[in-house]
Amino acid sequence: MSTDRIFNFSAGPSVLPLEVLQQAAAEMANFGGSGMSVMEMSHRGKAYVAIFDETKANLKKAMNIPDTHEILFVQGGATLQFSAVPMNLIGKTGKADYAVTGNFSTVAMKEAKRYGEINIACSSEDRNHTYIPEQKDITVSPDASYFHYCSNNTVYGTQWQYIPETGSIPLVCDMSSNILSAPLDVSKYGIIYAGAQKNMAPAGVTVVIINKDLAGSEHPLTPKLMSYKTMIDTDSMHNTPPCYTIYMLGLVLKWLEKQGGVTAMAKLKKERSKYLYDVLDDSKMFIGCAEKEARSDMNVTFKTSSEELDDKFVKEAKAAGFDTLKGHRAVGGMRASIYNAMPIEGTQKLAAFMREFEVKNK
Ligand SMILES: *Cc1c(COP(=O)(O)O)cnc(C)c1O
Repeated sequence: MSTDRIFNFSAGPSVLPLEVLQQAAAEMANFGGSGMSVMEMSHRGKAYVAIFDETKANLKKAMNIPDTHEILFVQGGATLQFSAVPMNLIGKTGKADYAVTGNFSTVAMKEAKRYGEINIACSSEDRNHTYIPEQKDITVSPDASYFHYCSNNTVYGTQWQYIPETGSIPLVCDMSSNILSAPLDVSKYGIIYAGAQKNMAPAGVTVVIINKDLAGSEHPLTPKLMSYKTMIDTDSMHNTPPCYTIYMLGLVLKWLEKQGGVTAMAKLKKERSKYLYDVLDDSKMFIGCAEKEARSDMNVTFKTSSEELDDKFVKEAKAAGFDTLKGHRAVGGMRASIYNAMPIEGTQKLAAFMREFEVKNK
């Protein structure tokens, strides 16, 4: 197979490990001697159930998920979880706390408002989401049904460097863009959810990791497919699950284990992002968008002093094999998304390209 791959800095759907793509290609028409593609199998057949169970077991292992928690494979993206979380949880007290630190946490908060009373526990809006509030600036309501935050702000390029302390209030986290990027104490969370297309698999499957104690008090009109209890009781098979993307997640998890798991990913992401942040720290042309202490290892946001120069950079970078570097419209400038599957050479070479660009365009 041709491997003339470019460096793909897309925020999502994003780069997948080449090895995984090649294995999927090799197994495309005939999986494991079954005579058919994984896409063509009954989701209740023996061959597929084996893939499903193995993927679930490998995710449990990769994230060290305790037995108190269940893994669900659902559809609708992280966005459907913005509705599912309040529909399932807010009924307890009618109230919930939201930390607003970027684009997706704002969307999640607005959606939750449809279902109950929302307290903004903290917000970074005053400085255009360039930082993460400190623990002392968070107000946790004693009667909140849960506390929601987004651990990595994909659009603004900031990440929480700590787990917020919420006492007995269950912690719910959108981890779409940094799941599986470092070791994590899952027991601290009531719910973790993540769309697959950033750090796990192609779009189509959404992972929900839920403390089973939180299921079963959903609003009576919650669609069956959005009820955590139904999904737990049916092992995510109330209807046809997104079979093929779950299989792809399985391949990614095997690849991840070979690389050394989340511990290796945590080390790698620091190395990967350091190449770019070193340029930003040294540069007189490129300016990092996020405040230093809040910088994300997954999405690096930066700009120059002019939009014309930004455009020129994005264009020339693309011609040089660095794709999809244009920033999100809310921030402008550039964004390099550097998830687990981004080879280290990707940021190494992009950093060199940036330094060269600066010299040439002084
Ligand atoms: C991409 C993203 C989403 C939206 O995910 P969908 O799967 O498109 O619904 C939500 N939250 C975060 C943090 C994201 O990065």
